[in-house]
Amino acid sequence: MILIDGKKTSAEVKAEIKKDVKAFVDQGGKVPHLAAILVGKDGASETYVASKVRSCNEVGFNSTLERMPSETTEEDLLLKINEFNNNEDIDGFIVQLPLPKHIDEQKVTTAILPQKDVDGFHPVNVGRMALGQPAYISATPYGIVQLLEKYNIDTMGKHCVVIGRSNIVGSPMSILMAKNSKHGNCTVTLTHSKTQNLQEYTKVADIVIVALGKPAFLTGDMIKEGATVIDVGITRVPDDSKKSGFRIQGDADFDSCAEKASFITPVPGGVGLMTVASLMKNTLAAAKKEIFS
Ligand code: NAD
Repeated sequence: MILIDGKKTSAEVKAEIKKDVKAFVDQGGKVPHLAAILVGKDGASETYVASKVRSCNEVGFNSTLERMPSETTEEDLLLKINEFNNNEDIDGFIVQLPLPKHIDEQKVTTAILPQKDVDGFHPVNVGRMALGQPAYISATPYGIVQLLEKYNIDTMGKHCVVIGRSNIVGSPMSILMAKNSKHGNCTVTLTHSKTQNLQEYTKVADIVIVALGKPAFLTGDMIKEGATVIDVGITRVPDDSKKSGFRIQGDADFDSCAEKASFITPVPGGVGLMTVASLMKNTLAAAKKEIFS
C-alpha cells in the first residue's frame, strides 16, 4: 500500500507556485492577492480560512481576511462581494462556506465575478469546466486530480466510483474523472444517498472517491483488493484524549481500507491540504489572467 502524502505534495505544489510568483513579479507582474470573506464564527471555517491565509504568506501572495458577524444580512454580504468584484487589486476571492442559514449560498456564489471566482463555484466556471473550456476548477477536485497525477495513478479505462454528488466535490469530480484527459478517461459511477446496494459498485471499483461527510463510512470489506481510495471527508469527532476535544476523521475507515488498497489518502494530511494548494494555483492563474483574459 502506498500512502498518498498530501502534506508533501501540497508543499511541492506551493514551492512551485512560490517560484512562479517570484518570476512573475520579477517580470513586472503584480503580487497576487487573494481575499476571503468569513461570515460568523464557525470553528471549522476559522481553521480553513487561517490555513488559506497562511498559505498565501508561504507562496508570496497578499491576502485580505474580511470578517463579518453571523447576523450579517444577505444584502450586506452582496455589497461586500460587489466591493471586492470592483477592487482591482484583488485578483480572486472566496466566501467561506457554509453561510448562516438566512443567507442564500447560491445567490452569493453567483454574485462573485467568474473572473475572480477562484473557488470555481460560479455557474460560468462549472459550465466551462464541464465543457472542457478554460475555467477555475473547484479546489478540492482539482487537488485530487493533482494527487492522481503526482502518484502516477493509472486512470485510463478504470472504473471510478464517486460517493457523494455535492456541487463542490462529488459532481465536479465525476465530470473530471470521465473527461478525455490524461488523468481522466475513467468509467464513472456517481453514487449518492438514494443509491441502492452501494457495495455492488464500490466492490468492483478501481478508484473510490468518498465525499459524503460520514466518518469511517467506507470500510475495507466494501472495496476490492488493490483499489485506490481517495478520502475527502473531514468530520470533527469528539475525542477526550485531544486538547481540542475532537479529532478529524475521514469518510474512509483508514485501517481496514489500507489493508486492501494499493493507494490511499490519509485524513488529515491528504486531500484537505491539496485543496488549499489548488486555491493558490487558481489565484496565481487569476493574477496572470490565464483563464479569463
Ligand atoms: P454534502 O453534505 O454537500 O453532500 C454529501 C453527499 O453525500 C450528498 O450528495 C449525498 O447524496 C451523499 N450521501 C449521503 N449519504 C450517503 C450514503 N449513505 N451513500 C452515498 N451517498 C451519500 O458534502 P460535501 O460538501 O461534498 O462534503 C463531503 C465531505 O467532504 C464532508 O466531510 C466535508 O467536510 C468534506 N470536504 C472536504 C474538503 C477537503 O478539502 N478535503 C472539501 C470539501 C468538503
